[in-house]
Amino acid sequence: MASTPIPSHPGAAANPYLPVTGRSVDYSWVLFDLVTDRRSDVVIVGAGPIGLETAAVLAHEGLVVQVVDSGPLGATIARTFPPHTRFFTSPERLSLFGLAIAPVHQEKLTGEEYLAYLRQYVATHDLRVDTFTEILSGARQPVKVVGRTLSGQRRVYSADTLVLATGGTDRPRRLGVPGEDLPHVRSHLGDPHRYAGRTVVIVGGRNSAVESALRCYRVGAHVHLVHRRSHIHERVKFWLRPEVQSLLDEGVITGHLPGEVAEITPEAVVLSDGRRLEADDVVLQIGYEQDGALFDMFGVPRDGVRKAPVIDPDTMRAAEDLYVVGTATAGTQDRFEVFIENSHDHAGRVAAALAGRAAPSPRPARPIPEV
Ligand SMILES: Cc1cc2nc3c(=O)[nH]c(=O)nc-3n(C[C@H](O)[C@H](O)[C@H](O)COP(=O)(O)OP(=O)(O)OC[C@H]3O[C@@H](n4cnc5c(N)ncnc54)[C@H](O)[C@@H]3O)c2cc1C
Repeated sequence: MASTPIPSHPGAAANPYLPVTGRSVDYSWVLFDLVTDRRSDVVIVGAGPIGLETAAVLAHEGLVVQVVDSGPLGATIARTFPPHTRFFTSPERLSLFGLAIAPVHQEKLTGEEYLAYLRQYVATHDLRVDTFTEILSGARQPVKVVGRTLSGQRRVYSADTLVLATGGTDRPRRLGVPGEDLPHVRSHLGDPHRYAGRTVVIVGGRNSAVESALRCYRVGAHVHLVHRRSHIHERVKFWLRPEVQSLLDEGVITGHLPGEVAEITPEAVVLSDGRRLEADDVVLQIGYEQDGALFDMFGVPRDGVRKAPVIDPDTMRAAEDLYVVGTATAGTQDRFEVFIENSHDHAGRVAAALAGRAAPSPRPARPIPEV
């Protein structure tokens, strides 16, 4: 494929880690002065667990690897986990190549503990990671990725190979009802303490919604839980499900199951059967969607209802010089089927493909996946 300059990333403006100033900022005067060129064998976009694991495996093979992320290390976890939220997955299944997790408490890890582990992982493997660098444009054959730092400096990354490890939770799913953009409606819970003494309507019936309902209740909020099905999801974490069920049965948390949101007004959430729930805050926890802009930017076709990137599953290759790893491979997941514990193989597959070795045989799936 000829080297094709690719236009600026249309989703860039939505980057939650860029400063929101309410006005558009013209960086063009900075760009010409502060351009840094970074050469490596492999550029990996995405400093989540699997992007970092792939970086460590490839560095172990003797390759020079550069990781770039538009946010901090582990941005998905930093952005979406409310404080002190525990992973469903056990620590040993979250451990990445070459560094075991050995929690002193033998419990499942919180988001904060895993972020600390990722920091330690980067230090242990001496990985080169540029955080808070938004991707502006790119080309392949040869790989060239142009990024911009928070302060407006431009960085040009050139390499032989590009790996996209960009995850699948770029933007919260939308309900598609009037009032969804009102200022008291949000998709991330944030710190539960902010809800003390308030009436909160939480929409959703899976782990995040259930955990939010419990945590808001524990800080003294009056909580409504609205879910379109007649029961909360059967795979809700086992340490949450009995408690939330009993609070729903007692009516301490007011359940509206099934309930369908028709409209959100400044005062209330209106359900399709006419029920009107007064609300100070509305928290939508109905899942996430993948932003496929980078796949489009680098010419990776996407397929099926999930719009998953088309790759060879043995090698993770999408094109001669382009690989996709981690949850990014799954597109938009309605029900999580690709997660950390079953993505650990991806790095080894890329390493084998780059070295011209046969693909390693797949690790047998654990009988009970933890997610
Ligand atoms: C509350 C909650 C609990 C969860 N519990 C579990 C669990 O128990 N077990 C589990 O396996 N998973 C769990 N998950 C999902 C988990 O977060 C993902 O499985 C994991 O983060 C995926 O890792 P990844 O490296 O594939 O992608 P991600 O961690 O999503 O990393 C992708 C990275 O790419 C970056 N990126 C994306 N687009 C761009 C771009 N255009 N330019 C530059 N950088 C970009 C992002 O900033 C991000 O850092 C949970 C999620 C939530 C919200």
